[in-house]
Amino acid sequence: MRGDVAGTLFAAIFLLVGCEKQGGPEESSEIHPVPQSVESTVSFSGNNAYLHCAKLCALGPRPTGSPAYVAQLAYLRQQLEQVGWRTHEENFEPYPGRKMTNLHAVYGEGDAQRPMLLSCHIDTKGQGSKAILGADDGASGAATLLELARLLSLEANRGYAARVELVFFDGEESFGERITPEDGLYGSRYDVNRRGDNLPAMMINLDMVGGAGKTIGVPVWDTTVTMCEQYCQAVSALHLPEERWTLHNGAYWDDHRPFAEAGVETLNLIAQFGKGSWWHTRKDNMSRISAHSLRETGELVMQLLRQLLPLPTQSS
Ligand SMILES: [Zn+2]
Repeated sequence: MRGDVAGTLFAAIFLLVGCEKQGGPEESSEIHPVPQSVESTVSFSGNNAYLHCAKLCALGPRPTGSPAYVAQLAYLRQQLEQVGWRTHEENFEPYPGRKMTNLHAVYGEGDAQRPMLLSCHIDTKGQGSKAILGADDGASGAATLLELARLLSLEANRGYAARVELVFFDGEESFGERITPEDGLYGSRYDVNRRGDNLPAMMINLDMVGGAGKTIGVPVWDTTVTMCEQYCQAVSALHLPEERWTLHNGAYWDDHRPFAEAGVETLNLIAQFGKGSWWHTRKDNMSRISAHSLRETGELVMQLLRQLLPLPTQSS
């Protein structure tokens, strides 16, 4: 299933020519009133995702093991169950005394492995006085998945919902400064081991997907040819600006990585976080989040589901 390294690198060089254009001006963040309630639309609502992002941030920093992390789990479960998803918390202890919790959600009957996993991390960086709010690095992915959950629960989209599992990972952030093979990605590493051979075929992971004027850079070194092509096709189909929806000539330690290494076709939708001084600082708050940016991300994921999980054609 997974392309070999040479094939992936070849795809990287080939696709970089066609898809990636670096640069583009940063949009200034828009001032956006927080909506009062979730709106019932038949397309992805950036306002709804923005509302979820604001609600999560109102809990304060949500580092692993904190009361705010537990409150966040309750909010996510309530929102998911309200639109018909069945939720399940998976508790684990990567080392003694460090309890963590991943949250899973499926739609429809049965517990058979769904072919597509949509994921994000919900822990935020830093503990105690160093804890940051993580509006983009933490809440934006979860906010997007919550709005996708609502959209997928609508009758026209239930064929997709039945083939998707949502996972909200704990412990993505490292306790040290940077993620290393030993520190960070605790939730995704645990989850891939827990599943054993019963893995999904595909995974789309969202991380830092709500910043105003963001540039997404899919890391091609750990992404298969197939997923790079599907991503470029989706960007093109939606006429998204190619200078802001790019391929990144590199690899990231992120929650897709343990799954990619296990042979899952992964796509990591992640903003080029190294470009700003906001990353892992107190500047990562709601002022950098944009409903428009969240909507673009949500629409891209929906387009990818249409491409990767085609519904059976209706017989007359
Ligand atoms: Zn982070």
